[in-house]
Amino acid sequence: MDKLIITAAVTGSLTTREQNPNLPHTPQELAQAAIDSCNAGAAIVHLHVREPSTGKPIQDIDLFKETIGLIRDGCDIIVNTSTGGGPGMSHDERIAIIPALSGDARLKPEMASLNAGSVNFGIFSRRRRAFVLDAVQLNLWSELLRFADTMTEHGVKPELEIYEAGMINNAQFLDDVGALVAPLHFQFVLGVLGGMQSTVENLIFLRNSIPRGSTWSLCTVGLDIFSLGTVAIVSGGHVRVGLEDCIYISKGVLADSSAQMVEKMVRISREMGREIATPDEARSILGLSSQREIAQ
Ligand code: ZN
Repeated sequence: MDKLIITAAVTGSLTTREQNPNLPHTPQELAQAAIDSCNAGAAIVHLHVREPSTGKPIQDIDLFKETIGLIRDGCDIIVNTSTGGGPGMSHDERIAIIPALSGDARLKPEMASLNAGSVNFGIFSRRRRAFVLDAVQLNLWSELLRFADTMTEHGVKPELEIYEAGMINNAQFLDDVGALVAPLHFQFVLGVLGGMQSTVENLIFLRNSIPRGSTWSLCTVGLDIFSLGTVAIVSGGHVRVGLEDCIYISKGVLADSSAQMVEKMVRISREMGREIATPDEARSILGLSSQREIAQ
């Protein structure tokens, strides 16, 4: 079995400092979170950026450039930029970073998320009996094709975000029409209100539904990653942790950082006998090495 690739999702677009004051906002804070996560054992950083003074999620090319530059100064982690962005962002805004960052080999992301379909996306407050977030993560067919074509054209490997089983078929369609390059890489995102929930049965079903030879990773909303993640570890998958997905390190205890969550996952995996991939080992497992050589 390959070594375990851990992705650190250090800020996302939904977590707030009201929920966890340790959430990074500025390019310096985001880069430090990535470097600390890399030192703790993460091979990939999944990156969103925030408006530095307010923390508002924003798909800003200059902030991405500054953040990625600082990350590159500090470590060799694989940068995976979000093209999901955040609620209310247009398709154009979300994808524009790929061509904009690809002009400079040092700032070019090696990977980017590609949401493989549309899904209701809700956050519900039981206390207030009201939706805190009531949105559709909209990804029209024509946009799925454009996003995949744009990433492939620029040599950025898509990480196919799967919230629902049918999205695997969407990804296969994109592959069938030549928009993707095999082997495909999937990220199963479980536990979103509107998508598939965090169960062993769902995870195994998804794993058994992807094309042979693909790689896959798991992330969940909340602390389930530290239990369901063990199924990913023993069944050949990879895992993602970080403040984007969960504000706690254990029940009721806020996480100090995404790096602390990476450390916990490293401990779990080592106890189970699976070693952790370095960034270069992850490049080899994901088939990124050849892309990187072309870029250099
Ligand atoms: Zn994200």
